[in-house]
Amino acid sequence: MKIIVFFIFLIVSTAAFAQNQALNQLVYEIRNPQTDAVHFRCALEKIGEYLALSVLEELRTTEATLETLTGGVATHNLLEENPVLITILRAGLPLNNGVQKVFPSAEVGFLAMARDEETMRARVDYIAIPDLEGRCVILTDTMLATGGSLCDAIKIVEKYGPKKIYVITANAAQPGIDRILRLNPSIKIFAAAIDPSLNDKGYIMPGLGDAGDRCYGKKHVAE
Ligand code: URA
Repeated sequence: MKIIVFFIFLIVSTAAFAQNQALNQLVYEIRNPQTDAVHFRCALEKIGEYLALSVLEELRTTEATLETLTGGVATHNLLEENPVLITILRAGLPLNNGVQKVFPSAEVGFLAMARDEETMRARVDYIAIPDLEGRCVILTDTMLATGGSLCDAIKIVEKYGPKKIYVITANAAQPGIDRILRLNPSIKIFAAAIDPSLNDKGYIMPGLGDAGDRCYGKKHVAE
């Protein structure tokens, strides 16, 4: 099985270096317990935007020429089609907002999934997704921990016939990545940081804590 994980920090090229350093700073910011919710969401948005630029490089383009105001002719490779963005509530929202900056006219779908802290299994409460038949999908989830909710999300998305699925995540754990690639080896995962393990509550180590709580405040009721 060919494991294709794009760990942006590991891409060695001059062009990618500035972006890598930017991502490095942003990951430090979201890991830092002193970062407040406003700056946490803002950093996630920027991470989403930078990772979406890497996905953009993967998408098919078509050549287009135009005559400029000077009467010259310019040729450009333009995106052949817009991907569909799908995000998992609630922590995926700021990340998805960043992805939307790169694909402003993309249609957006939402999945509401809650994790049972006892069983660590995800429950799906709400699905609202556009037509996915034959289209590229970019699925965003801020934390790829056990991979349980993302695998459930991928199974939902796969039912509607997408051509290709990309995953954008701020912080992934290796066991979660392995689980997704076992489910579907053709999925490409773009992560700003990959951590080695999970603790006994399913939190990523070293990770950053509960991303939803850090974005929007501690849950008082979760049903
Ligand atoms: N969800 C989070 O918000 N944080 C983790 O570490 C794992 C899952």
